[in-house]
Amino acid sequence: MNDQFDPDLRDAIQFHGHLCPGLALGYRVAKAALKELNAERPHDEELVAVVENDSCAADAIQFITGATFGKGNLIFRDYGKHVYTFYNRRTGKGVRIAEDFRGFENDARYDELRKRQQAGEDVSREMAEFKMDKVAAVLRADDKDFLKIEPASAPVPSTARIRASVRCAVCGERFMESRARVSGGRSVCIPCFEKE
Ligand SMILES: [Zn+2]
Ligand SMILES: [Zn+2]
Repeated sequence: MNDQFDPDLRDAIQFHGHLCPGLALGYRVAKAALKELNAERPHDEELVAVVENDSCAADAIQFITGATFGKGNLIFRDYGKHVYTFYNRRTGKGVRIAEDFRGFENDARYDELRKRQQAGEDVSREMAEFKMDKVAAVLRADDKDFLKIEPASAPVPSTARIRASVRCAVCGERFMESRARVSGGRSVCIPCFEKE
């Protein structure tokens, strides 16, 4: 089945571990962003991605655009929204992409499967089919029919990284100074702070 896919999608599936509607969405969003920003060279550190959820889609975004936490050009905002903003630092251009696909809303078929599942019925096969239908719909849709693409309203977020580190007064492990908590007048790491 995977043979029919674009190699980027095939590799993203391998990276993520499975093919699902979220991964398909992230793939489409990432492709649209690269096109909008004329970023022919993905994996360019000039590209910054801001994801507003940590769902399956975020894996495709990372994989296709090359923006990662480690490089500091992937930013997570925990808003629980299928909204993705990308910037090309070199050109200063930014694009905000919001998913607006009716197929992602819980439709009657999904509700029915959920009800039967809650009643104890094994619907795993039908659920898998349902998900694959969604994947197919996402891969087939035109950008304009399921993505709201507009210029980013906010400027490129600062991705300056603070590397100064200090030692925790409790566990003795080093941590980023900017994450320090004060406990009993001592500077401690967050896990130790939460234990006290
Ligand atoms: Zn997934
Ligand atoms: Zn500690």
